Amino acid sequence: MSDSNMEAFQERLDRMSAIFSDIVSHAEEQSLTRCPYRNRFDLCTALFRCRNQLPVADGDPEDLACGHDGTFDYRTAWESNPRAVQKTRERIVRIKRDAERRRRGRRGKTDDR
Ligand code: SF4
Repeated sequence: MSDSNMEAFQERLDRMSAIFSDIVSHAEEQSLTRCPYRNRFDLCTALFRCRNQLPVADGDPEDLACGHDGTFDYRTAWESNPRAVQKTRERIVRIKRDAERRRRGRRGKTDDR
């Protein structure tokens, strides 16, 4: 490659590096306020529970809107331990079932009087 071609090549490489570094810094900056799970329709695409998820008024019942307003760190709203959440849900169901069983048992005793 001739010297002039080498210089032109290097100029193009430098230009591409500058463009990509601008894109990377913009993405880094935006990632602090815009959740990566929020799509362009402002719907949440996460497959986990987040406190910012909101039901969509007139949309598909499966859809959840993102209620994050970009003024705080959205990552603290994520459930960090899905297994613990699942265990807690199962425990709540068990407690409700046991309470219902006890209530039914008490009602049966009072009905017998
Ligand atoms: S609801 Fe939560 S997980 Fe979903 S897009 Fe918004 S901040 Fe992200």
